[in-house]
Amino acid sequence: MAEVKNLGVVGGGQMGSGIAQLGAMHGLHVWLLDTDPTALYRANKSISSSLQRFVSKGQISQAACTEALGRLEYTSNIDELRSADFIVEAIVESEDVKKKLFIELDKITKSSAILASNTSSISITRLASATSRRCQVIGMHFMNPPPIMKLVEIVRGAHTSDETFHATKALAERFHKTIICSQDYSGFIVNRILMPMINEAFFTLYTGVATKEDIDTGMKLGTNHPIGPLELADFIGLDVCLSIMKVLHAGLGDSKYAPCPLLVRYVDAGRVGRKCGVGVYDYR
Ligand code: NAD
Repeated sequence: MAEVKNLGVVGGGQMGSGIAQLGAMHGLHVWLLDTDPTALYRANKSISSSLQRFVSKGQISQAACTEALGRLEYTSNIDELRSADFIVEAIVESEDVKKKLFIELDKITKSSAILASNTSSISITRLASATSRRCQVIGMHFMNPPPIMKLVEIVRGAHTSDETFHATKALAERFHKTIICSQDYSGFIVNRILMPMINEAFFTLYTGVATKEDIDTGMKLGTNHPIGPLELADFIGLDVCLSIMKVLHAGLGDSKYAPCPLLVRYVDAGRVGRKCGVGVYDYR
């Protein structure tokens, strides 16, 4: 595949805005699509302030920041992704919603375009099956926040071609990321290990073993993690954590992956973490 010049990013939340920023910082023309205009407004603000932080730290020049901002377009019209060479989807973690999007993207994008998903846990093979280009569908899983975190987990579906894999790897390398490769099983590598730990932290809180502060301090100072599991859950989004636990539970068929009732209760109550101001902790 020829070098990627035009990047489409679908979903302008925490992850999509960071992926769009990365693309623009590394010379790609980027269309960031979200159905919610408020999300686009927030994405624009967060990308500008993140780029400005890179300038303040001397990591990029003011000119590079201005150029990157000039390479970004925000839209709610999916037809604008027609000329994208490579698309990364970062919408809500729901297989049905993602499949609908893949069907639409398959219709409107050029036949050579690669369709990548930033899914944390959902089967790439099943997402690919919604399209007529199964060999051009792949998992490209960035970590949060994408401009800072060094890892990209690449997931090949059952039909992903070598060409698609190499183009995705080349794009991740252009973003200066370290790559790991996973087989297409629920949760892949990182979330298969991380989410049960977060879920267990919720069980530890739920069963009254310790306070939230002691659980987080225990894991920070006791195991040298930079952030405690409950703080991390708030950062990721409790809704995203719950969706991933459900995928692990259904996909791996073991009761050890059953979501903790306290995690379910927080999500039901709209306490989804930092992005709404309250989760396990209160940020208001
Ligand atoms: P988010 O809730 O912050 O953002 C999702 C965005 O997608 C919202 O702005 C929403 O308006 C938009 N959206 C929903 N349906 C859409 C559609 N059909 N078309 C266009 N836009 C649509 O979510 P997030 O945390 O950025 O997660 C997005 C994806 O990235 C999920 O698949 C998640 O599992 C994955 N992921 C999340 C993290 C994390 O730490 N939060 C890390 C790695 C991967």
